[in-house]
Amino acid sequence: MNKLLIVGTVAFDAIETPFGKTDKILGGSAPYIGLSASQFNVESAIVSVVGGDFPEAHLELLRSHNIDISAVEIISTGKTFFWSGRYHNDMNTRDTLSTELNVLSDFQPVVPTNFKKASVVVLGNLHPLVQSSVLDQITNDDALVILDTMNFWMDNTLEDLMAVIKRVDIITINDEEARQLSGQSSLVAAARKIHEMGPKYVVIKKGEHGALLFNGDNVFFAPALPLEEVFDPTGAGDTFAGGFAGFLTKTNDFSFENMKNAVVYGSALASFSVEKFGTERMCNLAPKEVFKRLQLFKNLTQFDIELT
Ligand code: AMP
Repeated sequence: MNKLLIVGTVAFDAIETPFGKTDKILGGSAPYIGLSASQFNVESAIVSVVGGDFPEAHLELLRSHNIDISAVEIISTGKTFFWSGRYHNDMNTRDTLSTELNVLSDFQPVVPTNFKKASVVVLGNLHPLVQSSVLDQITNDDALVILDTMNFWMDNTLEDLMAVIKRVDIITINDEEARQLSGQSSLVAAARKIHEMGPKYVVIKKGEHGALLFNGDNVFFAPALPLEEVFDPTGAGDTFAGGFAGFLTKTNDFSFENMKNAVVYGSALASFSVEKFGTERMCNLAPKEVFKRLQLFKNLTQFDIELT
């Protein structure tokens, strides 16, 4: 079976939206990516770190979705990475209220031996030096490497981030971050600039306005499903990345044509993630529901115009 390796934060999140507020719930880039990819029944593992304050129930939840967490280090004397954020009425923008790196500050990731030859590697959002260190341990030269990042790392560790971006095949990034990274306001120009930094494929996520996939002059666009109610957008980007990567791992076809389908799967899965707080919706998502939503996507975007 093809293998998917995920590195990312495993976190406590405290989230505030116009619909309510949570205390410290399970969050972090890696759980969202792993839970989303678990829809594809691929063999996956998470490399990350948590503190002694992290509940066993959260780890068990990941295990119960067949995610190998033997490389999630537990530092019993340390505290888990903590992030808190607040969304406003439009839900497209959020304020980060606090980011406490805690045990992530001096994390040295160790890739499990049986995942060094993974066919797909997702470098989820976390310190670029940790992302690089994971890449150094991969022994499959043909592995498809997907990197996700955010403005926090551009603001604080730009040089390290540029070094890891150079080494990856695909970058997934949101529109504002693409503008920040490239210094371009047009997303087409931004994608071109980011190509020059290394990645052959650039995915720009535009929240409720969908996602763009660029590969040189090839461009593909998938909308986001218009939802009546977005409850909590946290993790939508990671859920997208997990669906995108999970589909590519399962199909083992890394062509542009197949990546279009991966973008659609990513978008469909992200549309579930935002329906409840945190990871809740992704924990109880039946394949039947995903199938139905993909059908909705098809209906939403298919048209048969006659060009004479
Ligand atoms: P997203 O909404 O897709 O950007 O992902 C939100 C998740 O990213 C939350 O669960 C946070 O715990 C996690 N997160 C927030 N800030 C960071 C950061 N600087 N590095 C890594 N993960 C982060």
